[in-house]
Amino acid sequence: MSSLALLGGKPVCNTPFPPWRSLGEEEVQAGLKVLKSGVLSSFVGTWSKEFSGGMEVRSLEKEWALHFRTRHAIAVNSATSGLYAAMGAIGIGPGDEVIVTPTSMSASATAPLVYGGIPVFADILQNTYMLDPRSIEARITPKTRAIIVVNLFGHSADMEAILLIAKRRHLFVIEDNAQAPGAVYQSRYAGTWGHIGVFSLNYHKHIHTGEGGVCVTNDAVLANRLKLIRNHAEAVIDSKGYAEEDDLTNMIGWNYRMTEIEAAIGRQQLKKLTALTRRKQGLGNVLRNSLLGMESEGLHAPHVGPNATHVYYTFPLRIEPAKAGVSRALFVQALQAEGVPAIERYAKPLYLSPLFQKRIAMGGHGFPFTLQPERRYTKGLCPTAERLYQEELFYIPWCSYEIGEEGVRQMTRAIQKVWEHRNDLGEAIHEPCERALRRK
Ligand SMILES: *Cc1c(COP(=O)(O)O)cnc(C)c1O
Repeated sequence: MSSLALLGGKPVCNTPFPPWRSLGEEEVQAGLKVLKSGVLSSFVGTWSKEFSGGMEVRSLEKEWALHFRTRHAIAVNSATSGLYAAMGAIGIGPGDEVIVTPTSMSASATAPLVYGGIPVFADILQNTYMLDPRSIEARITPKTRAIIVVNLFGHSADMEAILLIAKRRHLFVIEDNAQAPGAVYQSRYAGTWGHIGVFSLNYHKHIHTGEGGVCVTNDAVLANRLKLIRNHAEAVIDSKGYAEEDDLTNMIGWNYRMTEIEAAIGRQQLKKLTALTRRKQGLGNVLRNSLLGMESEGLHAPHVGPNATHVYYTFPLRIEPAKAGVSRALFVQALQAEGVPAIERYAKPLYLSPLFQKRIAMGGHGFPFTLQPERRYTKGLCPTAERLYQEELFYIPWCSYEIGEEGVRQMTRAIQKVWEHRNDLGEAIHEPCERALRRK
């Protein structure tokens, strides 16, 4: 008899992990103060001081820029809006190609479509799960204008190599840093390496304001364009503050404005970011270090670069089924039975979604894909991303739970237990079948 919980044994983690909460009394007070003032947003759509938002929004931006050591920070109402605004700010237009990753949240790859741009998928690296610089290089054409790099799961992408390519080929680099606030890469914060970095303040992230996002940049022109796009650009581009010779491209503005309540909460959340991520990072590293010995037999702990830190938005793991002698599905089921909240698959390669398969985006005739009739988003386009999705990559949503020292100890024991008894899992395949047969 095996002691695995999946086969009837006692589970290692005896109590469910409580949900993650980053909010405290400070946020309640900050939000209440704004609510009591009655001024829930100060944005106006005319060229004035308030064109850039109220006191809380502007303070959040000042503090965000200071914290991440960037020249400018522009608050928006989501990271998705931030990515759209970034595409607009760098001047993406119909037919322009933007290199994206297949392994992420959908907006990381669909943002170019909003301006008629064409997402071009490059493959990922099997150890970091992020864009492979060599694949990026191979996908560059004369129409390529930018790369959207995602700092996935809480760790920076290989920015050194990617920035080198971008510089040589005169491309913009936009960093989707929704999952890696506070992660460090070579003595600078992740999200501050590209021309524009985009952070999320959505409820599911390390720190949040319900919904929200922040763009950062060191470029004054891009900062100004982001602010214009955020707030009805077209309504103010003939006013003072916008010069005759300024670039009118994409100056059709949206309403991506953040409210004063969100900004007030965001300011308190930002103060806590370092302590919160340090804790996530420390505990994640303890679990990671306990798994390093399994690497040679096919279970891979999260990659952490030599001059980088991981803030573990999720705790990604990779199993090589042939080497380990067990399928991912069974392994994850066994972990779940032990009480580890593991999830079997992460993000189906984005080009396999109907949007790209049917090539229908704006209107019913296939714009902007009609600008590139030959481009196909066929299966096999990014083999590593597909293999990892189908068979190897799984994760623990580290940021969804409050996992303390004892939680990490239990998870470590649970993973080690399933790993050591993985040969017993063969029984789990046959047992349900036999039971089903007996029932017949
Ligand atoms: C959450 C997330 C987003 C979107 O953030 P929102 O603020 O919800 O729009 C974008 N990219 C990645 C990688 C994310 O994880």
